[in-house]
Amino acid sequence: MIWPYRRRNPFLAQWLILAIAVAILGLATGYDLHQERGRIEKREQDRLLAMSRVIQENLEQNLVSINEVLVALRREATTGPAGAKLNDRLAILAEAMPSVRTLTVLDAGGRVRAANRPELLNTGTDFSQRDYFRIPQQQPNADTLFVSPPFRTSLGAFSVVVSRMIPGAQGEFAGVVAATLDPKYFDPLLDSVRYAPDMVASLHHGDGTLFLILPHSQDALVGKNLARPGSFYLRHKESGKAATVFSGTVLASGEERMIAQRDVQPAALKMNKHLGIAVSRLLGEINASWLHDAEIKAAMFAVIVLAFTIGLYGYQIRLRQLLAQEEKAAKALEASEQFLRMVTDNIPGMVGYWTRELRCGFANSAYLEWFGKTPEQMRGLRIQELMGEELFRKNEPYMRAALRGERQTFERTLIKADGGTGYTWAQYVPDMDGDTAKGFFVLVTDVTQLKEAEMALAASEAKLKAIINAEPECVKVLAPDGTLRQMNRAGLDMIEADSEAQVVGAAVVDLVVPEHRAAFMALNEKVNRGEAGSLEFEIVGLKGRHRWLDTHAVPMRDADGKITGLLGVTRDITEHKKALQELEKLARTDALTALANRRWFMTLAEQELSRTLRYGGPLSIFMMDIDHFKHVNDTYGHQTGDLVLQKLGGVCRETLRDIDCVGRIGGEEFAVVLPQTDGVRALEVAERLRLTVERSALALERGLPLHFTLSIGVTTLAGSAANLDSLLGQADDALYQAKRAGRNRVCVYGAGQPSAVAPV
Ligand code: GH3
Ligand code: MG
Ligand code: MG
Repeated sequence: MIWPYRRRNPFLAQWLILAIAVAILGLATGYDLHQERGRIEKREQDRLLAMSRVIQENLEQNLVSINEVLVALRREATTGPAGAKLNDRLAILAEAMPSVRTLTVLDAGGRVRAANRPELLNTGTDFSQRDYFRIPQQQPNADTLFVSPPFRTSLGAFSVVVSRMIPGAQGEFAGVVAATLDPKYFDPLLDSVRYAPDMVASLHHGDGTLFLILPHSQDALVGKNLARPGSFYLRHKESGKAATVFSGTVLASGEERMIAQRDVQPAALKMNKHLGIAVSRLLGEINASWLHDAEIKAAMFAVIVLAFTIGLYGYQIRLRQLLAQEEKAAKALEASEQFLRMVTDNIPGMVGYWTRELRCGFANSAYLEWFGKTPEQMRGLRIQELMGEELFRKNEPYMRAALRGERQTFERTLIKADGGTGYTWAQYVPDMDGDTAKGFFVLVTDVTQLKEAEMALAASEAKLKAIINAEPECVKVLAPDGTLRQMNRAGLDMIEADSEAQVVGAAVVDLVVPEHRAAFMALNEKVNRGEAGSLEFEIVGLKGRHRWLDTHAVPMRDADGKITGLLGVTRDITEHKKALQELEKLARTDALTALANRRWFMTLAEQELSRTLRYGGPLSIFMMDIDHFKHVNDTYGHQTGDLVLQKLGGVCRETLRDIDCVGRIGGEEFAVVLPQTDGVRALEVAERLRLTVERSALALERGLPLHFTLSIGVTTLAGSAANLDSLLGQADDALYQAKRAGRNRVCVYGAGQPSAVAPV
């Protein structure tokens, strides 16, 4: 049994979990990208700073070299004469320093005293207004290396000039030595640090004027002052640091860039102004790979989110279908369980289910009632706890057998919850799952009433059996086919059987004498048709004794009314039958002569006549009368007369055939019917009989034997219209004739004269 259950709606939770997972993944990805971006920026800052350092070091080395040259030149210019020799010297030095384009020595008035370039000599040009001259002139200091703001030289190149003051004898301003830096020289230097196409490297003066920039596509900026509010230049300057990195918008171009700036101002040189280096890259380019990575990650994130969303959505659709199916199935199950419970609760028996672990899986109301438990108490209850140890031990073998897969059926006496004794009929039916039993079904029927009825029936049967066995008459039960099922002692005695076992199953008809078998079978069939019947019949016992039996048989029926056999009560009527036969014989016979009496003779005669009339053939009849019988009586007494009558009877029996029937129809009058006897033959027979009587004699106690004679009237059947009375009348007529003709003779009816005359 599945106990009711409830399920939480899982959909919202799943979406929440997915949302949280997506958020975590998004945050992790975002954080990772953020970190990565930080790392990239830091790396880029380091690289830009490193590049700017490369430029710085190179530039410083050049400045140091140039300064040394300028210091040496200053000394030479003050100690030696100017002239062609100094010019040559300048030319050699300039040649040795590729970063220097022009070397000049100017006098206190700003005129060229010496130069490495001939075109500058002897022109008389006044350079006193040039910054590299004017500033040392205004702030004379022999220790300072003056760095001029960038300007377009007379030779057309944009350049910076570094100069030193030439001190006079008293240390006064006596001119300058100046070196014009060759921007072309720095092109490769700046270009060499550009490790990316978007990278810009530039040199500017400490005042903010740009004088060299690479790539040359940016040359428009050359000569521009960077010192605009919010510019990187000012931000660097304001920071007070020698090296900075900033990111932001380039004011001049509007580009987003990262820029590293570095001051070039070696302390030993005592430069009045420093030079500045800037290397920058487009932020977009720096972050391009990161952005690409971020895009891929974002795309992947989106794909993952989409995939999970679609997956979850699809899963939930499927889940919804499954849940709907499950709900439907659960409802159907519930309905079927309700129906099952209704059915089982209305079954007048205990229906239950026990699991393999012998715990209750189901119990109908009858089960609960029997053990006095509520459904809650019963649920999952161990069978030991329900039954108690003793009953459990008794039933355990059946349970074990059921769990082995063998169906069990047994009866059990149980003590009910109310303390009464109940009789149950239990069935354990294994619940098989393949080869193993998951549990077993239990059907226990309360058969107390049945059992009590059965016991009452058994008692009553035993009583009945005792009665039947004590019964003096035969009580027997036959199967419909006539074989014996049961027979009491009296019956066994009748058929001379030693025991019931000897005759059970035997056909009773075999004991019946042949002439009664048909009647016996007819009675059986009648009873099998549902009627009662009686029959007298004769049997021959197993030991050969004949008996007459009188049986009364009735059908036996089962609960459906179907005939299941024959119940017979049989009396032994042998003695009664004998007495009856004796009586019958007496009723038919004349006691004196032992011949048929009148009534019996008439019966027999009618039978013979009708048989003859039916089948044809001759038939003759005698009427006989003893002659002068009164005389015999009178002379010898009535008793002797009786002896004469007896004597005549004997003579008739001896003389006539067995098929002839003789009857004493009056005091000393006799009649004979002779079947198959025509007139001629009848006359012969009558004559012989008359003669025999005539010749016979009755021995008397005293005196001579007594002789007597007989007169006979004969008639023979002629035609089919005759009846017995008329025939007897005819014979009587013939007898009368015989008497009239003198007695001791035979007369034939219708023959006129008597056939023989034998007067005594
Ligand atoms: P008939 O020759 O004409 O026949 O002369 P009868 O003397 O025989 O005359 P009848 O036949 O009339 O006589 C019959 C007598 O038979 C009368 C009766 O007393 C006698 N009788 C009838 N029945 C018995 C009987 O059972 N025993 C004896 N002893 N006599 C009987
Ligand atoms: Mg007579
Ligand atoms: Mg007579």
